Amino acid sequence: MATQQDAVTRANFDDVILPIYAPAEFIPVKGKGSRVWDQQGKEYVDFAGGIAVTALGHCHPALVETLKTQGETLWHTSNVFTNEPALRLARKLIDATFAERVVFMNSGTEANETAFKLARFYASTRHSPYKTKIIAFHNAFHGRSLFTVSVGGQPKYSDGFGPKPADIIHVPFNDLHAVKAVMDGHTCAVVVEPIQGEGGVTAATPDFLKGLRELCDQHNALLVFDEVQCGMGRSGELFAYMHYGVTPDILTSAKALGGGFPISAMLTTHDIASVFHAGSHGSTYGGNPLACAVAGTAFDIINTPEVLSGVNEKRQLFVKHLQQIGEKFDLFSDIRGMGLLIGAELKPHYKGRARDFLYAAADAGVMVLNAGPDVMRFVPSLIIDAQDIEEGMKRFADAVAKVVNG
Ligand SMILES: *Cc1c(COP(=O)(O)O)cnc(C)c1O
Repeated sequence: MATQQDAVTRANFDDVILPIYAPAEFIPVKGKGSRVWDQQGKEYVDFAGGIAVTALGHCHPALVETLKTQGETLWHTSNVFTNEPALRLARKLIDATFAERVVFMNSGTEANETAFKLARFYASTRHSPYKTKIIAFHNAFHGRSLFTVSVGGQPKYSDGFGPKPADIIHVPFNDLHAVKAVMDGHTCAVVVEPIQGEGGVTAATPDFLKGLRELCDQHNALLVFDEVQCGMGRSGELFAYMHYGVTPDILTSAKALGGGFPISAMLTTHDIASVFHAGSHGSTYGGNPLACAVAGTAFDIINTPEVLSGVNEKRQLFVKHLQQIGEKFDLFSDIRGMGLLIGAELKPHYKGRARDFLYAAADAGVMVLNAGPDVMRFVPSLIIDAQDIEEGMKRFADAVAKVVNG
């Protein structure tokens, strides 16, 4: 319990934290599975999953066990020394994917920063220092460092910070002709989210990703999949590229990778990795034993047929409820996404009001997200049970009724 001396409330936020967020009016203090409790003891069903992070719910016993055990063993050594949990986790990722080399970072941003730097370095080492063009997509989200936010396709996030990294070009998502029109021998990489998350929960079409693969092969460019949000089981496969049967050259993972502990990874082939040498890139914390131990346990649980096949069963429940709510309130024009990355687009008469539904949902006891102003987003735990889905959807329907009825 907080003592009087260190009692803090939501009102303190504006006095002490940079005004870059607009957090909900309550402060969560405890979580278990897919339920969360706030300072007043009010209970919420969690359909937000810490933005697609807590893929095994809150305080999963196996993760807690690993955190405690590793916490009493070794937390941090830096990359001047390697460590057992990092080597074990790297091996698991390599065994389960196309990858032959892995590097760990701490956030999606850093994994992508690593990927984009590697793509540029590879092109300049193997081909030409002028092969620097990066092709990316409108509405894409790749992180918040100046490089990653500039590769992202939402200028509102990248404007105002001075000169942007050069030679990045954006074209419409799912438009192969647009890519063809700008692709050339100077292109070093095409960067894409197989399922755009922040941009509105839009899945790539299979033809689009297959076409990107062919174009990259024709022009000696690397295909980079940002699976920070759609990876680690969220799509119903371990990584979304497996659905499409299109193998990238570089893949980034974060969010669900640590189940709530900050960690990210960049995966690639031996050939591409080999242009880097000691000192090319790095991170003090990246791959620290505490993070890698927790992620290793999360990986072992997520990468099982039970969890992965459960994702699509749970999706069906979500979609059924969303369809019912959509029909009853004339609310949604589209329900989309893949697995447990679900988007529900608001009809034109509710356009721009996603945040109103989000706040009303919190009032009604269910945490949901938006993806832009017009899309509700649901990214729950991959092991959320049917009862939590039923209860959360009941509360969401109550919230919708309140908003719709003014
Ligand atoms: C969240 C996200 C990122 C950024 O991850 P951080 O951990 O916030 O830096 C990058 N790419 C995608 C697709 C994301 O969803």
